[in-house]
Amino acid sequence: TRPLLEIRNLNVDYGLGDDAVHAVRDVNLTIHRGEVVGLAGESGSGKSTLAYGVTRLLPPPGVVSGGAVTYHPPTGDPFDVLNLSPAELRKFRWAETSIVFQGAMNSLNPVHKVSTQLMDVIKAHEPGMSKRARLDRAKELLKLVGIAEDRLESYPHQLSGGMRQRVMIGMALALEPHLVIMDEPTTALDVVMQRQILGQLVELRERLGFSVLFITHDLSLLVEFSDRIAIMYGGRIVEEAPSADIYRDPKHPYSEGLLRSFPALRGARRELTGIPGSPPDLRGMPSGCAFHPRCPKRFEPCDTRIPILGKPDDHVGPPRSVACWLHPVTAG
Ligand code: ATP
Ligand code: MG
Repeated sequence: TRPLLEIRNLNVDYGLGDDAVHAVRDVNLTIHRGEVVGLAGESGSGKSTLAYGVTRLLPPPGVVSGGAVTYHPPTGDPFDVLNLSPAELRKFRWAETSIVFQGAMNSLNPVHKVSTQLMDVIKAHEPGMSKRARLDRAKELLKLVGIAEDRLESYPHQLSGGMRQRVMIGMALALEPHLVIMDEPTTALDVVMQRQILGQLVELRERLGFSVLFITHDLSLLVEFSDRIAIMYGGRIVEEAPSADIYRDPKHPYSEGLLRSFPALRGARRELTGIPGSPPDLRGMPSGCAFHPRCPKRFEPCDTRIPILGKPDDHVGPPRSVACWLHPVTAG
């Protein structure tokens, strides 16, 4: 399959110079066309920062301090998202890539009906479309996300959390983007609702053919719904593999710990032990592998040298990569 978005050596800092906090470090990740990629990691690992950096929505003092983000439109030439002008960027944001933010369901405007908000999104990008056509499109979008069309006349407070979340997804799909990024949209919802919404998004992906980057700390959801999973720790991706491989045979002790932090939705039960200790402080990162102070398998090189992310030398089979001294990687 062809790549849609290629993130290369991305670095994102908050602040400048000596005060800079390095929130995303040297991240490489490719999302292919039609693929659902899950991004997991504990709070503070840099997941949102990565999503904002890639879409150029970083709030100050966030800055992309290095790297490239190449977008391959289905038609036309590839371009670097980091070099787009403000006007090009506005277009890119809804029509090519749309993002549903963390807590998005609370970002609907409380004083406007659902219909107005959906139609406004459509209007902003298709100013020539008639009101009638926009209303039809709004109905279609609601139907797509499983909400009855009479809900168009509702105000956000008249909808459940799950419905508001679906309305946000409908808005994100309004311009038929090729990539939908969902940043932990489900934390405020109960587990049953989380599964329903992610399941529905995956189903829509099959029908409409977009790619999804789904960000959460609940790895069990990703195991069930995504094609590939990338796991972040302390601003770096520490493991990336097909979902089934992460589930069956996690290579990084951190991935293993995360898998033991959430009950599996299906398959064999694991003992839930979680990960002892807490995520690192970005202002005082441990030397070597950032995970070593919490790692039950640490050994000699771990506290002095940073492992690089790559295909383990002893690995055969579908592509996967890991950054851990237990699985040596040949550079280059
Ligand atoms: P969560 O699961 O809680 O959403 P996350 O993985 O999305 O976490 P980020 O929000 O990307 O993590 O934050 C990564 C790091 O960057 C954190 O250590 C955070 O403290 C830091 N950070 C985020 N925003 C800012 C900011 N505006 N200024 C300084 N540091 C920030
Ligand atoms: Mg976040």
